[in-house]
Amino acid sequence: MASLLRQCTQPSCEFRFYEELGDFLPPERRKCSFVHAFDGTPSVKDRIESLGVPHTEVDLILVDDEPVPFSRRLTGGERVAVYPMFERFELGEANRLRPTPLREPRFVLDVHLGRLASYLRLLGFDTLYRNDYDDEELLAISRAQRRILLSRDIGLLKRSALTHGAFLHATDPRRQLREVCDRFQLDARIAPFSRCARCNGKVGPLGAAPDEHDPDRDQPGKRDPDAGEPERRDPERAPAERDPGKPPDVRDPEPQKPEKLGRTLRAIPANVLDEHADALSQCGDCGQLYWPGSHLIRLRQRLAEVGVPI
Ligand SMILES: [Zn+2]
Repeated sequence: MASLLRQCTQPSCEFRFYEELGDFLPPERRKCSFVHAFDGTPSVKDRIESLGVPHTEVDLILVDDEPVPFSRRLTGGERVAVYPMFERFELGEANRLRPTPLREPRFVLDVHLGRLASYLRLLGFDTLYRNDYDDEELLAISRAQRRILLSRDIGLLKRSALTHGAFLHATDPRRQLREVCDRFQLDARIAPFSRCARCNGKVGPLGAAPDEHDPDRDQPGKRDPDAGEPERRDPERAPAERDPGKPPDVRDPEPQKPEKLGRTLRAIPANVLDEHADALSQCGDCGQLYWPGSHLIRLRQRLAEVGVPI
């Protein structure tokens, strides 16, 4: 009886979550309104996250049909409608909650997203990934370097320190890629094979001197053990493993030395060298070599299947 009385006197609101935000709710709360009771006068952000939806996924909140910020306090009796990024309707950009979009989308990926990291790099997007980043490192890198944190960890995306993050609904890496391209409108920015799938370095014509003015040169990279899409040979220049004594955002770029180039070329199969001599390219950071081949056709097919054109 006491709990019943408490329920009757407790303030409550009617909540409705739209579109893919329903993925974070139990089935009975999807595609419908439901009553949610609470204590005190919590912020609407606090209640949304307590119901399971990370703040990074919310683009617009209406309380009694008026747009409100995350900090809006609830007192009881309100109707709360919560919309994700892609719910289009005529309210104008000024009402949206997302922080200012980053001028150039750059990413840092949670530890389980190695394949997605490779794909994003292959499309030319600056993507940090290590399979040993912990949550604090991911949050620190995202904030310090203004990188969008991609994750399937709902708890991580609820962290208040995070300003730019996105939950990936898909589990298949290629579908995750499509999701990221849609959410951040990347299709027009795709620059295929301009970054190294292995370490995130810039890829350019073979033997070209590293661009000392490239602001990305001091960004950290990561060898991705899952990266395997591009055909490549580089037995002499395996990237250095992480030094556990170093912070994660420091690396020592080691440009290809001219005297090593001859040995690198000798490591390439002769038929590949004959056929693609003018089309070889190389990562300016780790020295990884790339050349056109049947792997490119396969990769294009695989990405075309999920609507990513390269
Ligand atoms: Zn590389």
